[in-house]
Amino acid sequence: MKIHHLDLGPLRPLGGRLMDGITPGAVARLTCHCLLIETDHHGLVLVDTGFGLRDTMRPVPRLPAWNLALLRPRLDPERTAIRRLKRLGFAPNDVQHIVMTHLDFDHAGGLVDFPHAVVHLTAPEAEAATERRGIIGRARWRPAQWGDTSRWHTVETRLGSRGRGSGETLFGLRNVREIAGLPEEFLFVPLPGHTPGHAGVAVKGPRGWLLHAGDTYFNRAEAHGDGAAPPLLAAYERMMAADVAAQHDSLARLRQMLAAPDADIAVFCTHDAVEFVAMAAWSEGDGGAVAAGPVSQPASQETAG
Ligand SMILES: [Zn+2]
Repeated sequence: MKIHHLDLGPLRPLGGRLMDGITPGAVARLTCHCLLIETDHHGLVLVDTGFGLRDTMRPVPRLPAWNLALLRPRLDPERTAIRRLKRLGFAPNDVQHIVMTHLDFDHAGGLVDFPHAVVHLTAPEAEAATERRGIIGRARWRPAQWGDTSRWHTVETRLGSRGRGSGETLFGLRNVREIAGLPEEFLFVPLPGHTPGHAGVAVKGPRGWLLHAGDTYFNRAEAHGDGAAPPLLAAYERMMAADVAAQHDSLARLRQMLAAPDADIAVFCTHDAVEFVAMAAWSEGDGGAVAAGPVSQPASQETAG
């Protein structure tokens, strides 16, 4: 198995360090951290898909206008999953599985670019996204991004429900679920709150377990530091939380796990650029690739936005 870390965004909201905690000046930098995993027997597996090719070509009306104005994604076709994996020497049909932390527009845009892949997501996420309740529901979930939904394989993750792996824990995190069609190195770790069916995706790679925590938190300080996100980012996070109490509970469980001395697992979220760089460097040590941006694009150009 080989794990590539891909930033299939990025986002460039205004707010500098009030948004990302680190960047001087006006424009902050957030990633859309996705994984491209080369497996031995299951082809390529994507964990989340960032923005897709069609999003970059016709952002309106595919993407929600208000979120677009706030997050200011860099919609560059060369940064999409499909173009990135072509540059790595793969074909789109090599992607056999896509595992989704949730279906928000900044995670699900690439689904339609891989029509042959099976899409794994939690049952409560599929239900909520299909219903699209409320103003936020209609903004965040964009059916135009999904392609054929008959390829969705849902995993029931609600507490008390039964399913493969339902009684299991992962380093103390409860209620983890196996994913039918994928080996046991892939698990859903339900972390609801940001959306009703939001889940982390745990992957056992060459260097041990890692947990893609999706949007359980937005800034590393929330999970690994003092608990506080930069103020502007915290406001956006609160606005987009479907259930604030549930999100706090999910994050509290994550922090509890990270505080345990035996938690031999690397945890990162989608939108923290520092975590992205750290994880790419960590995976590089075992031959996994760093893939921060198109090779042809100098780093300075990225930060200049
Ligand atoms: Zn997100």
